[in-house]
Amino acid sequence: MGPRIVVVGAGFAGLTAARGLLRRMGDAAEVTVIDTKDHFLYLPLLPEVTTGVVEPRHIAVSLARTLPGAKLVVAEVERIDVDSRTVHWTDADGGGGETPYDRLVLTVGSVNRLLPIPGVCDHAHGYRGIAEALYLRDHIVRQVELAAAERADRAARCTFVVVGAGYTGTEVAAQGARFTAQLAKAFPALRDQPMRWMLLDTAPRVLPELHPRLSRTADRVLRERGVDVRTGESVAEAHSESVRLTGGEDVPMRTLVWCVGVRPDPLVDDLGLKTDRGRLVVDPYLAVPDHPEILACGDAAAVPDLTRPGQVTAMTAQHATRQGALAARNVAAALGRGTRRRYKHHDLGFVVELGGLDAAASPLGVPLSGLAATRGDEGLPPAGDARQPRAGVHRLAAGRPPADPGRAARVGAGRAGAA
Ligand SMILES: Cc1cc2nc3c(=O)[nH]c(=O)nc-3n(C[C@H](O)[C@H](O)[C@H](O)COP(=O)(O)OP(=O)(O)OC[C@H]3O[C@@H](n4cnc5c(N)ncnc54)[C@H](O)[C@@H]3O)c2cc1C
Repeated sequence: MGPRIVVVGAGFAGLTAARGLLRRMGDAAEVTVIDTKDHFLYLPLLPEVTTGVVEPRHIAVSLARTLPGAKLVVAEVERIDVDSRTVHWTDADGGGGETPYDRLVLTVGSVNRLLPIPGVCDHAHGYRGIAEALYLRDHIVRQVELAAAERADRAARCTFVVVGAGYTGTEVAAQGARFTAQLAKAFPALRDQPMRWMLLDTAPRVLPELHPRLSRTADRVLRERGVDVRTGESVAEAHSESVRLTGGEDVPMRTLVWCVGVRPDPLVDDLGLKTDRGRLVVDPYLAVPDHPEILACGDAAAVPDLTRPGQVTAMTAQHATRQGALAARNVAAALGRGTRRRYKHHDLGFVVELGGLDAAASPLGVPLSGLAATRGDEGLPPAGDARQPRAGVHRLAAGRPPADPGRAARVGAGRAGAA
């Protein structure tokens, strides 16, 4: 038996790393992939799932089919003992197990960042997976249906508050506003009822981490769609039927979506290794200092950005995918195949999909907006396809008929009776 390589987390970085390892090592190594899910999830298209433009199965890619030759363990890693080089996990049935490794690639990504704001845990919708995207879709459709049926709290049911104007929140608000405008057309009772979307962020502009020109484009499109953009403002308290803003205003609503950034997966904290703002510290070769047998990358790792000395790479699919490929190369090199390299990648730009024909993008640093900016179709793997998605550009595969959001009905993902 060859060396045992374990990849923990099969997202953008882990899936790419596992594929690279299988290709580079062939039968010369045993590659085990552990993930809580049995599929790779194309997270950037979750807003399109909520608004019905993309079907959920189109953004979920089977790991078993994509990684033939790898041993797949669908389980949650609870603990990694770096001294005994063992990964401890628990599967969905509660059964435990452990997998020893000679080389570990840690790519567990990130989780939602919750802030200690009263009521947020109880009343806000998170936004990290298909279940949450579908739940939000059903919840929105239900609010519009209920608003049409009764007058009393119509305005509150037609008010949707999104907190966090990063790419996720901006996309949810922009596409959500379009979605509810189309939904409402089916209900004569709502003809004169505004669909109010609010987008809040404490930062001074939307998309604060991206180029100001992208911010301006996104801001313009949002306002043209009637989104009430509030920068420098957030939620101070959340209740089931209203939120209080930091400026003191009370906003009656029934929908609060929480998109306030992410933080690295807590598994990283528990390793007892050095972290930088929660991300595992690695060198430019993606190796953990004093533990050359552990490589980490993607959102979970603080990978030095050699194109911007002193900084670490951003938490994007583009970096995660490229780092995953490099992790495979460097692990193979350590095992005698090829040579290792440092991670150095100039950002190829960013696309913020705003729905319809609108997007803000900066491919290769050139700011674009409108149709020209919408995502290319190279990235998204058709369901069941073994191709790996390329980050940075993505959209539903060409020719696939988009679902018609205007004819939306619930799909049964929401709680029965939850109003
Ligand atoms: C809604 C949304 C929209 C986004 N839009 C964009 C965008 O437009 N462009 C862009 O570049 N980026 C976008 N991102 C960010 C991008 O998706 C991340 O930067 C990227 O997914 C990071 O890749 P990763 O491999 O590090 O982590 P992930 O892709 O998150 O993969 C981590 C994997 O680890 C698994 N895992 C975690 N913990 C454990 C554990 N304890 N045990 C076993 N498995 C575990 C998870 O199940 C997951 O499969 C978006 C993110 C979200 C949530």
